[in-house]
Amino acid sequence: MNSIDYVVEYEFTAMALLIVLIGLYNVRAKFRTTANAVFSVMMGATLVSAVLHTFTTTMLGHAEDFPLWLNYAVNIAYLFVYEGLAPLSLFYVSEITRHGSRRSADRVIVVSALIAEAAMLFTTPFTRLVIYFDDEMNYLHGRLFNVIPGIALFILIYEVVLFVRFRKRLKPVQSASMVVFTSLTFFATLIQLVFPDQIIGNYMVALSLLMFYISIENPADYIDSITGCANAEAFFISAESYLNRKKSFSAAAFCPQGLEYITEYLGAKESGRVCAEIAQKLKRRLKRSEIFYLGSWEFVLLSESAEPAELAEVLRDFFKEPVSLMGIEAAVTPYICTLKCPGFVKNVKDIRDAIDYTLKSMKGGKETLAEVTPKAIEAKQRELKVLAAIRQAIKDDSFQMYYQPLYDVKSGKFTSAEALIRLIDPELGFISPDEFIPLAESNGLITDIGELSFRAVCRFLKSGKPQQYGLKYIEVNLSVLQCAQEKLGSQLIGIMEEFGIAPEQINFEITETAGLANYDMLLRNMNRLISWGVTFSMDDYGTGFSTANYLISLPMEIVKIDKSILWPAMESAEAFIILRHTVEMLRSLNKKIVVEGVETAEMVKLLSDIGCDFLQGYYYSKPVPADDFVMFLARKSA
Ligand code: C2E
Ligand code: CA
Ligand code: CA
Repeated sequence: MNSIDYVVEYEFTAMALLIVLIGLYNVRAKFRTTANAVFSVMMGATLVSAVLHTFTTTMLGHAEDFPLWLNYAVNIAYLFVYEGLAPLSLFYVSEITRHGSRRSADRVIVVSALIAEAAMLFTTPFTRLVIYFDDEMNYLHGRLFNVIPGIALFILIYEVVLFVRFRKRLKPVQSASMVVFTSLTFFATLIQLVFPDQIIGNYMVALSLLMFYISIENPADYIDSITGCANAEAFFISAESYLNRKKSFSAAAFCPQGLEYITEYLGAKESGRVCAEIAQKLKRRLKRSEIFYLGSWEFVLLSESAEPAELAEVLRDFFKEPVSLMGIEAAVTPYICTLKCPGFVKNVKDIRDAIDYTLKSMKGGKETLAEVTPKAIEAKQRELKVLAAIRQAIKDDSFQMYYQPLYDVKSGKFTSAEALIRLIDPELGFISPDEFIPLAESNGLITDIGELSFRAVCRFLKSGKPQQYGLKYIEVNLSVLQCAQEKLGSQLIGIMEEFGIAPEQINFEITETAGLANYDMLLRNMNRLISWGVTFSMDDYGTGFSTANYLISLPMEIVKIDKSILWPAMESAEAFIILRHTVEMLRSLNKKIVVEGVETAEMVKLLSDIGCDFLQGYYYSKPVPADDFVMFLARKSA
């Protein structure tokens, strides 16, 4: 053979590359999926194929020096392993492209190809159909030799079809490696068909595997860098392969109670260490389960061998021991929710949504163990529907603004009102702002809503109607996310100018969370608006941390005391002391005081006596549509 030296060099490069790759792949922590397993087998097989190939190329020059059986054995083994790479690659490509959909056709092709190749190769010493040695021990190709690379070519074409069909499911970098992979193997297969002796296939496959390693199979992509635990992406892939195996399995999600609140004090490094420690200790206890860290102190266990209740029991038992936080032994109770899959879940997203929802609804409650019910998925679906309703309402500008009057104690008149948004969907009916505002906030839709509702308020003021009956200004809620926007100030001023609204007619309500989220931006926006002439209220005072610092540092003219301070004050002497002193403190700070949730004459009397400036609540009026509100004002001022 004339090209022996040339070929062997490629094989040595391939071997070196593969050894490094296999080493890297195994050193890094990884988690178990079918795609992972096939990828490992492919790396091993390519290495074996490269080694066998150096044997065959070396031996072929001196075939007569070796017994016939050995010549056959080495060549057949090499061809089987090498040509087997194509069906293996199909197995792999099928796993990464066909998330969740049927793969049986692919499996049939993989298995048939392997069987066909085995059948042809293992019988060739007798049939001489693929390869054979003549009487002078010359290595020769049989009549069916090209069938095997033909199979490989067919498989490659099939892979391209799969890729084109499912390309949307791949990330750009994954698509890129698929393109490189198929071009390289096409090239190699073609070369092999034209020049059967110059096989650079192993080298090409090794290069492709390297590409896949970097783009798809890099174990580091699936590891949370801080905790060293398998991450949310790993969970997705893993849970998906569990679902695809069509066997039942258990999931248990848990979240150590209260730790999320002290993350700030622990610092990222210490939090990461604690998370990692929990994960590692648990791993040691639950050898037959997989553990994932989804972020925000949320972990999930998956197990095919243990029942959900067993997992929960192990978790409870585990947390009986204290967790070490900065050297302090702290007792930690986890919120645990369990789920038997597949059950009512259809896909991994269902699992994720259901456990997220269940854990979230457990937080702050007394229950620490819950079973995930179909309700959790329904709640998520409701969320999606509400989200769609919000998007539609934004498109149609069909939100409605309701107005709730504020009673001015000193003048005995209704001089202002709070604008409160309403969403009435043709299908879902009335949707409470308590439901849709948080959703709009977490989906970035609140800024659009904020603009639309502010325009509605300005339009109402421009009509001049409420002013006829003594209304001086309207309070408008700004959400945290709006306040973090650079352009907020200029946007709001722009709208007021567009409608010709004087700044004194507007007061913006913000909660202290706006300051917690992005203090500097909030302050800049506030100062811009204040210098233009509008005023601000601090909303919901008493529900959050009621940070004293914000009362001093944020330029608020009005503070709105929440009903959660008022209502208990009607019931207990202690709570009344808190209300009275809160009012006193705010007065001393020269803040105007609004109290919300005023429902009874008794409350009115008491709040007027202790010196509150404005009262707002159902006692006077619920929030009502603009026209009703004008009628209300007209009635009251008559
Ligand atoms: P909020 O800003 O604290 O608004 C006061 C809430 O208390 C309103 O609920 C109002 O209807 C209710 N309320 C007023 N008086 C009484 C009373 O005497 N008794 C009782 N039980 N409740 C009373 P609503 O309209 O359902 O709004 C809920 C929350 O949704 C608001 O709380 C506010 O955080 C948010 N929201 C409403 N409209 C908007 C808006 O246009 N923009 C933004 N960003 N948030 C809004
Ligand atoms: Ca408010
Ligand atoms: Ca409020």
